[in-house]
Amino acid sequence: MDEQQSLFDTAPAPWVLDDAADWLAARVVFAQTPFGPYDYLIPGDLRGRLQPGQRVAVPLGRGNRRLIGWCIEVISPRGERAATVRPDRLKPVEQITDEQPLATAGLLELGQWISQRWHCPLGVTLETIVPVAVRDFSNTRETVFLESDPEVTARLDQLKLSPVQRRALEHLRDSPESLTAAELANAVGCSAGPVMALRKKGLVRQTTARVEQRSHELAPSSSQEDHRLNADQSAALQTIVESLRKNRQETILLHGVTGSGKTEVYIRAIQQVIEFGRASIVLVPEISLTPQTRRRFCERFERVAVLHSNLTAAERAWHWRQIASGSVQVVIGARSAVFAPVPHLGMIVLDEEHDGSFKQDSAPRYHARDVARERSRREGVPLILGSATPSLESWRLAHEQQSTIVELPRRIMNLPLPIVTTIDLRGEFASRRSRGAISRPLHAAMHEALLDGGQVILLLNRRGFSTTVQCRACGKARYCPDCAIAMTHHKDRKQIVCHYCDHREPEPVVCSECGAARLDFWGVGTQRLQQEVEARFPDYPCVRMDTDSMRRPGSHEAALESFRAGEKKILLGTQMIAKGLDFPNVTVVGVVNADTSLHFEDFRAGERTFTLITQVAGRTGRGPRGGRVLVQTFSPEHPAIVAASRHDYATFAKTEMESRRQWCQPPFRWWARFVVRSPNESRAREMARQLGELARQWPELDAESRVIDAESRVIDAGSRVIDAGSRVMGPAEAPITKLRGEYRFHLVLQSADEAYLHRWISHLENSAPEVDEVRFIVDFDPQEML
Ligand code: ADP
Ligand code: ZN
Repeated sequence: MDEQQSLFDTAPAPWVLDDAADWLAARVVFAQTPFGPYDYLIPGDLRGRLQPGQRVAVPLGRGNRRLIGWCIEVISPRGERAATVRPDRLKPVEQITDEQPLATAGLLELGQWISQRWHCPLGVTLETIVPVAVRDFSNTRETVFLESDPEVTARLDQLKLSPVQRRALEHLRDSPESLTAAELANAVGCSAGPVMALRKKGLVRQTTARVEQRSHELAPSSSQEDHRLNADQSAALQTIVESLRKNRQETILLHGVTGSGKTEVYIRAIQQVIEFGRASIVLVPEISLTPQTRRRFCERFERVAVLHSNLTAAERAWHWRQIASGSVQVVIGARSAVFAPVPHLGMIVLDEEHDGSFKQDSAPRYHARDVARERSRREGVPLILGSATPSLESWRLAHEQQSTIVELPRRIMNLPLPIVTTIDLRGEFASRRSRGAISRPLHAAMHEALLDGGQVILLLNRRGFSTTVQCRACGKARYCPDCAIAMTHHKDRKQIVCHYCDHREPEPVVCSECGAARLDFWGVGTQRLQQEVEARFPDYPCVRMDTDSMRRPGSHEAALESFRAGEKKILLGTQMIAKGLDFPNVTVVGVVNADTSLHFEDFRAGERTFTLITQVAGRTGRGPRGGRVLVQTFSPEHPAIVAASRHDYATFAKTEMESRRQWCQPPFRWWARFVVRSPNESRAREMARQLGELARQWPELDAESRVIDAESRVIDAGSRVIDAGSRVMGPAEAPITKLRGEYRFHLVLQSADEAYLHRWISHLENSAPEVDEVRFIVDFDPQEML
């Protein structure tokens, strides 16, 4: 008997078979407070129709407020969890919202994992996994379907029917599928009237279902010949193909310099995956979803779904259902495409894996790289991480043999990497040899390249016109009233703007502090740079790309197209121009100010600078004319800038890794950052203090860590790391002390033991007091510390 029972419990969907059970309960979570889970009874008429991954309407609380939640489990008396349910106390499920599960069993489990790792309620996580367009049934219409009723067709001769009606009933009886009223009328060649009459008389069975409202299109495909892979590419492909055959998870880090042909390797690997009858997910930074990237994939595959941010809700939902139905070979998208409901996944590729946009900055604060690794582990498929500048996290895993590393050390056709020269701005401007933002050497290089028929890319990671508005009388800079951030002057709109909260004010004439009419607008943003470039090179059309110039859908594509076609000779912009673009005619790249991200109070500043310079340098020298890069900086001796100018990732990684180890920073420690926010400064400060105290009083914190924490040091006189395990950093004011009207404090928990850190976080979450107007968030494995 016992054995039989366990057989039953492992059978698929036991609740469907379990018609005879005394009761069935649904475990439900919500995307808002209270998050659940709560259990509800599944009433008789809904039995067999409800599965985990569907949403349900249920009554909540004393007032029986009706709420939509996610069914995450169906529990029967014979199931393992039966003892956790009290069926006599449960309220019933009122209605099932979705005909089919929106989250598959696999995605539900992945959701559980995300929810635990990033300390976010499961309901909120599920609403990230399943896009809102799908939850809103975008592009679907409720439609009535007609079926024949055997009792009616059995006595057709006894019914009083017009000939058309009779024909309609016979047609329906013989039809293998249910039909809409219109389809039926059409089939028997009558108007809507007779069919409506049959429905009214109750002579046909009616069901409703959602159907696709209109069909959209996958990206148009064309066919293009494969390149002949070079030796390095072949070796890389071979490693991936071997991994595909193994049928288990493996992470492969494809470390290839810019222009080494990584995309070609992905494409060949995807072809293999398709031969195995499976589909691939390719994740790229949003900004790389340019027509250029799309084209490269669409030229090689027939059924490609490109999930970019300009899709309408209807298109997004349609694509999602196409993917879920198994009819798509390749899904390309930004971060959230890691949740694409591909039924037979064969491989995940994460291109530009170092990119910061793979981490979400609202709950759940997940990192797509980690989610991709977990999903690929659960589904037993390889994960390919590609980059010219791998994150230190991935580099470390590769060197600890937890993933495989494949190098593409050379560019395609052995093209040389561009020569990078640094220009010391201290000298340039002290001697007044240069004016404006473009130094003389950079001007000369641009001039020469343009005369020679080449094109130029200029990177400046600051948008707006002037980055600071300052009073010459009292010296005060103009700050956003809601954020501790200097306002940026946007000359074209005659406004000053806060780049954090988008607060805007008309261009000021007098100082808001002292009233003097002596305002200085200084610091160069991309708009001023454009003005300078147009003045210096009036004969060479220039196009600017930053979030201000790219607001309208399609403007991004248009800008790149005009540059690609050679109509525009100079492309200038923020970091959005640094990634993935492939223009063979670009012979000069200028980095206008390499230091913009160096002086942030963030331990990743060096890594970001190195990456940005290397990536933007990678945009040149892709054609036979070669190319060079000029980097303007006030700190030419900074190790990140020196290494980037030598294309020397290995040395950079070695130095940076050493310093991270010494300072107990990721990837050598797990970090969790608490950010406390409140419009009331003293309450925020007090809450941060209490969190710090709770953290330090945690019973599991070992004595050694306490001593180290008290002495607030991690290395001894001989520079040896003495930190045994865990410590608390802070609380302190966050580098951005005020944002959107809220004061901010932060606190970082650090530990070498991930499980331990999670327990520690939960301890704080559970024991923190509730204080009016004060909120805090937890950012596990934070990517930015501002
Ligand atoms: P990465 O992604 O490493 O920066 P790409 O995949 O963009 O490099 O490749 C750079 C250029 O080289 C592209 O224009 C691509 O079409 C071309 N390419 C790639 N592989 C080959 C090959 N084996 N033979 C010739 N051209 C190639
Ligand atoms: Zn602001």
